[in-house]
Amino acid sequence: MPQDLYKVTLGEDQIPTHWYNIVADLPTPLAPPLNPATDEPLQPSDLAAIFPDNLIEQEMSAERWIEIPAAVREIYRLWRPSPLYRAYRLEQALGTTARIYYKYEGASPVGSHKANSSVPQAYFNQLAGRTRLTTETGAGQWGAALAFAAENFGLTCDIWQVRSSFESKPYRAAQMAVFGGKAYSSPSEVTAVGRKLRQEFPDTPGSLGMAISEAVEVAAEDPNASYSLGSVLNHVLLHQTIIGLEALAQFAAFEEPQVDYLFACAGGGSNLGGIAFPFLRENFEGRQQVKITACESHAAPSLTQGEFRYDYGDTAGMTPKLKMYTLGAGFVPDPVHAGGLRYHGMAPLVSHCYHEGHLDAIAIKQREAFEAGVLFARAEGIIPASESNHAIAGALRQVRLATERGESPVILIGVSGSGQLDLPAYTDFLSGHMVDA
Ligand SMILES: *Cc1c(COP(=O)(O)O)cnc(C)c1O
Repeated sequence: MPQDLYKVTLGEDQIPTHWYNIVADLPTPLAPPLNPATDEPLQPSDLAAIFPDNLIEQEMSAERWIEIPAAVREIYRLWRPSPLYRAYRLEQALGTTARIYYKYEGASPVGSHKANSSVPQAYFNQLAGRTRLTTETGAGQWGAALAFAAENFGLTCDIWQVRSSFESKPYRAAQMAVFGGKAYSSPSEVTAVGRKLRQEFPDTPGSLGMAISEAVEVAAEDPNASYSLGSVLNHVLLHQTIIGLEALAQFAAFEEPQVDYLFACAGGGSNLGGIAFPFLRENFEGRQQVKITACESHAAPSLTQGEFRYDYGDTAGMTPKLKMYTLGAGFVPDPVHAGGLRYHGMAPLVSHCYHEGHLDAIAIKQREAFEAGVLFARAEGIIPASESNHAIAGALRQVRLATERGESPVILIGVSGSGQLDLPAYTDFLSGHMVDA
């Protein structure tokens, strides 16, 4: 009986062949990015200094289905399809009538969903003749994912890691080094913008916005280098839709035709968009009515407290202007443990969908997030990433409401990564020392 399954994994031959581009199905058009010098809609050539043409094409595409190249699918086979679990043991621990499912991205080589985009980004860069990638990383997951992917395609990889994470998560830099990448603590001494930021703000914990400025500066100056972004942009969310596409097939195997609630954490919005957009398509086409909730960090509440306007993606104002929910490009979030959620803005696609009422958002403080994460770990045996704990906490609010009302909704949680390298944060929480930010 399918209902008795703990998990559906699917076969390697069921890895989706195409990514889903939600731009094709949006009822209202997405606001274009702007050239920061002219404030005119961005032209593909404006991006040529930092991105290869094939990725620029994806960034601007309105085609519904975009083929996943065979070489990318081949590497995806290392960990995809990722499992969809029924959280029976968590349900028992909570004493709930809700049916809880979670899609687990932590079994990838680097422990998070980030590899879903780093692999195609490295592939398309190699195809375009680039030999070096530069990037930013918050908690280090994206840096590790890109180092892994770059190594697979024979590219070198330089990574600017937000200072607070660089210092609190030393194992991440080691992980990047194992994959042949080089990590710098950002702001660093090796870029002009980094030196300027260090002079102005000597004690800054750093931010993703600062690290992006550094990586963009280096890529723009080296003709063999491209910049790679781990979230926010349309093509990154596109690559991540493999998560939601697999989940739809897995729910069919569970004989569970209707998901009622979907919770995913949101920093830049890539895993949220990736798991949710294929379900949003179900909503648009009238097959499902999934209520989607973005769970952000209370320390960087761009959707719930930011403004919907054009803003830069980075601190120094080197990137195009994006129409998004933003706390301001200069905003430096408190150094909470969920480094991947410490971003001042939100992906334009997620921002647009939130603005149009296609999804909801809530902000969660880190103690509530870790309380949920520990409960989840004790029931399911998986220690989730600090970021993923926000999605679990959001789902638990809904579970408790459903239990009170005696309802049995189907709830999907996007567990975006493993917390094996976040254990100092768990120690902080368990010892009662965690600040509630
Ligand atoms: C990077 C990261 C996030 C946040 O980034 P999004 O682009 O919003 O998904 C969430 N969870 C994990 C495990 C991450 O590595």
